[in-house]
Amino acid sequence: MRFDSIIIGGGVAGLSCAIRCAEAGLKTAVIAAGQSALHFSSGSIDVLSQLPDGTRVSHPFTAFDALYQQNPNHPYSLLGKDTVCEAVQWYQAMMATCGVQLQAQPDQANHLRLTPMGTFRSTWLSQQTVHPFPLTEPAWGLSRIALVTLEGFRDFQPQLATDNLRRLSAFDAVDIHTTAITLPGFDTMLRNPCEFRSIEISRVLRDTAKLHEFAKALIQQVGQADLVVLPAIFGNGDGAATIKLLEGLTGYRICELPTMPPSLLGIRLEEAMKLHFQALGGLLLRGDEVTGGTFENGRLQRIYTKHHQDMPLVAQQFLIASGSFFSRGLHAERNQIKEPVFGLDTANIPDRSHWYQGEFFAASSHPYLNMGVQCNRQLQPTLNNHTIDNLYCAGALLAHYDPVKEGCGSGVAISTGYFAAEQMIAAIRADQDTTTEPNEQSKRVYL
Ligand SMILES: Cc1cc2nc3c(=O)[nH]c(=O)nc-3n(C[C@H](O)[C@H](O)[C@H](O)COP(=O)(O)OP(=O)(O)OC[C@H]3O[C@@H](n4cnc5c(N)ncnc54)[C@H](O)[C@@H]3O)c2cc1C
Repeated sequence: MRFDSIIIGGGVAGLSCAIRCAEAGLKTAVIAAGQSALHFSSGSIDVLSQLPDGTRVSHPFTAFDALYQQNPNHPYSLLGKDTVCEAVQWYQAMMATCGVQLQAQPDQANHLRLTPMGTFRSTWLSQQTVHPFPLTEPAWGLSRIALVTLEGFRDFQPQLATDNLRRLSAFDAVDIHTTAITLPGFDTMLRNPCEFRSIEISRVLRDTAKLHEFAKALIQQVGQADLVVLPAIFGNGDGAATIKLLEGLTGYRICELPTMPPSLLGIRLEEAMKLHFQALGGLLLRGDEVTGGTFENGRLQRIYTKHHQDMPLVAQQFLIASGSFFSRGLHAERNQIKEPVFGLDTANIPDRSHWYQGEFFAASSHPYLNMGVQCNRQLQPTLNNHTIDNLYCAGALLAHYDPVKEGCGSGVAISTGYFAAEQMIAAIRADQDTTTEPNEQSKRVYL
């Protein structure tokens, strides 16, 4: 099978690159072995919340110079502020065409999103159903909020969240109420708590009669509230529309919280991107895994997958966005880390005792989080110190940044995926220009 571009990995980095390639008219395939980190994420897009030296960032795009000073190898430092900004704006607009509205703050500042633990995390874009708490005054405009769950649901404990919220002085004057709704439709599911998860609940609440019952119970148990906080239990595709309906039925302002995995807010992003990619004509090979490839003259010629061991997949340009240790894009051995598909060169810390901090919740970053595949400014990796011309890397696979401490995971994934796509499109266009007759060139249009 021949393609213009092949993307290894179906997370936010791989899909951003794939969609951009497909938008530009490239014949593109994505191979996605399993679930991406989005199934575990809040579904909010972090761009930059903290610098490596620990300085908090309120306005991400004003902090890029300082980031460059502190870490010139950071993926953002390789790309530059303008490219990152362009990529995030493209992503926001592209997701809007898929029906997922991601909102930034008008003053270009980060905002806070509430976690299921009742703590706050700073982020850049949140879905329209997530309440953006202001960075400086998180309780602004709130005098009574209600944290609501379903009786028997284990993945969100409102009392725990409330206890943590009450510790914050900003919430001293806010009345925080918790309640658990009981619905008859959940009786059978409750018999086996392992099946009482957000995805199963969302299927029940898709039934209009059940949603009306839920709305009635909500009004009875919550009473008056400026904001009703619910766990994300409203569908991976149509969740936002269901919440709008519920707001209409109850008169409440409702906001969703990501739950313990599976996180519907993250899955919503992944499903929307996959559908959009396929609608653009892309081929998605779900559940297949790239096992290796062959290289000739400094170029990746073909790749092999578990399901296509005797039928190589050929392309002019490739991207690998197979994630970090979490998604098995990186593999740790006793004293080194490896990229398991091609054996690309990695940024290693030789002594394992220097990979981590003594304390799990240490103030400074765990060094292993900065380990990953080493790339040049074009995001091309090396294999045994030789650059691979037609292979690019994106996302959590990359070295030299810490998505957790710096709060930049999805921002790096989107911007490196987008930037790699632009390189791939340009390279294919250049190839076309040299191999096509001049009067034929005008027939191929790349956006
Ligand atoms: C638990 C958790 C929560 C997070 N929460 C947030 C958040 O709230 N906001 C935020 O901005 N960032 C968050 N992040 C960080 C951010 O989600 C990640 O940095 C980002 O999603 C990484 O995307 P990726 O596409 O590079 O990798 P991944 O999402 O890990 O995707 C990699 C994909 O490649 C596939 N793959 C691996 N090997 C192969 C192979 N050989 N062949 C084919 N496919 C393969 C995997 O199955 C997977 O589908 C979180 C990360 C984690 C781990």
